[in-house]
Amino acid sequence: MKKLILIVISIALTFSVFALNVDRVEPTFWWVGMKNPTVQLMVHGQEIATTEISLNYPGVKIKSISRQSNPNYVFIDLLISPEAKSGTFPIEFRKNKKEVVSYTYELKNREPHSAERKGFDGSDVIYLITPDRFANGNPGNDAVAGMKEQPNRSHMNGRHGGDIQGIRNSLDYLSGMGFTSVWLNPVLENNMTQVSYHGYSTTDFYKVDSRYGTNEEYRELAQAIHQKGMKLMMDMIFNHIGSEHWWMNDMPSADWLNYYPEYKITSHRRTVNQDPHASESDKKIMADGWFVPSMPDMNQRNPFLLTYLIQNSIWWTEYVGLDGIRMDTYPYPDKFAMAEWTRRMLEEYPDFYMVGEEWAMNPAIVSYWQKGKVNADGYVSELPGLMDFPLNNAVVQGLKNPETWGGGLMTIYEAMANDFLYPNSNDLVVFPDNHDMSRFYTQLGENIDLLKMGVAYYATTRGIPQIFYGTEILMANPGTEEHGVIRSDFPGGWAGDQVNAFTGAGLSAKQKDAQDYFRKVLNWRKTNPVVQSGALKHFVPENGIYVYFRYNQSGKVMVVLNKNQEAKALDTARFSEVMAGCTSGKDIISGRSITDLSSVKVPAMSAMIIELK
Ligand code: CA
Repeated sequence: MKKLILIVISIALTFSVFALNVDRVEPTFWWVGMKNPTVQLMVHGQEIATTEISLNYPGVKIKSISRQSNPNYVFIDLLISPEAKSGTFPIEFRKNKKEVVSYTYELKNREPHSAERKGFDGSDVIYLITPDRFANGNPGNDAVAGMKEQPNRSHMNGRHGGDIQGIRNSLDYLSGMGFTSVWLNPVLENNMTQVSYHGYSTTDFYKVDSRYGTNEEYRELAQAIHQKGMKLMMDMIFNHIGSEHWWMNDMPSADWLNYYPEYKITSHRRTVNQDPHASESDKKIMADGWFVPSMPDMNQRNPFLLTYLIQNSIWWTEYVGLDGIRMDTYPYPDKFAMAEWTRRMLEEYPDFYMVGEEWAMNPAIVSYWQKGKVNADGYVSELPGLMDFPLNNAVVQGLKNPETWGGGLMTIYEAMANDFLYPNSNDLVVFPDNHDMSRFYTQLGENIDLLKMGVAYYATTRGIPQIFYGTEILMANPGTEEHGVIRSDFPGGWAGDQVNAFTGAGLSAKQKDAQDYFRKVLNWRKTNPVVQSGALKHFVPENGIYVYFRYNQSGKVMVVLNKNQEAKALDTARFSEVMAGCTSGKDIISGRSITDLSSVKVPAMSAMIIELK
């Protein structure tokens, strides 16, 4: 009888606990010893806002509790004193003094020197990977129960099975090629019904997509990358979520999203962020409109949402050991929220690197966002880096177009002149192509000579070079701009691939030639501090030849781009202000020594990179 009573009581308790539950607490854990002593927990559970909340742990107290219009959410601000030790403690939620649900929260110790982590600079070369399309290291996670989209390698927009293990298996290849870091397109869960392989439709901010691996595997990848002396950049999106995000089933508050439930699409007129004449209505539709119907627009003016997003990027930085963050669609969220994100990140990690995507051809627009820029409207950003889209465009035009008074190489020369707009052009990411545009080789009409000149240029100009996976083996998208084609599978990443770019097996002679060129130039770059951080001085292009130098106290590097169809003898008298005192040089591409610097023989349609002595 006693036993029966116990069973009845436990069933009753089970039911009452079931009625009152906590299904999510985010951040899922936190750390002691952060610069900012407060962490705000988002708690989700049936009627959880109707409870009394308490905890008892030395050094930790509840600073405030905030409720939203939806009773299934409550936000708890914890104040963590500098004396608090790592450990776990229950947070108790009580209703009518009877029903109790308890959630165990954990505070961890930080990794040593976590706050002093060093971000990216000119010594880095970033390799951009679309994880679904690079290498399938674990065919066992291609199909995962509960994921709405199952593998379909035969469709260009399907899930192809690439994953974190595949990237991990490729680190020797990447390091051998001369890359010093990787940027992965977003790896967080995109549990969407279709076209989710690109990763830009987050459905869970605290979970790596299970088709790529687990959170722990992502962390282990970062550790393996660091063991190779390389760095990891995480791709994040503050502007939007995926339309199948779990919030969509139970919205925290009425103002969590913009234009919800009846959405409007953004105007994509990004210049309203800078335009002194812009109307309020144009600003509103730009910032608050949805990117596309499957990507609801978040309202970063809601302070709880903004704190959630900022803490999420700190959480991944701390948990995984990130070296940098690439922020998607930088001009689309509320710009003051983005400024607060940059400020908070640098408060925790003063040398951290963040780079924003502002896809504008006008450097005045791009430079507006950079840390240190004094803007006429008083806007202050602390974003160290931006993607150099103006230069990206100029290089293709400069290489492709015929040499005229104002065209050809002059386009590149004049693009560099615009560096006066940037507080620090060395912190820009420079790139021949990325996952959203036609392949560099395709843009250059599949001309390998032009491609090599472009590679030499990006490896030697100021900034941090970034190469999209496969550009080193001439991956192309002939006759189509389909993103699913641009992001084709890297050959050799799948068992049974006929071609293997990792080993070179089956690559054409041209592909091998391009791959060797990258390998040579990037490995040289790794060892040359002048080209990583030296000043840049260039000379007006003449007769289809563009000459510039990188130099510092310890050395000088001369770069010559010759677009002529024939070899030229280059008289160097015009460059004496830099070359004075130099008596010889070595072309790192041909390996040839140059004993007479007064006239340099430049091969047709090629670049020379000359270390001056
Ligand atoms: Ca897989």
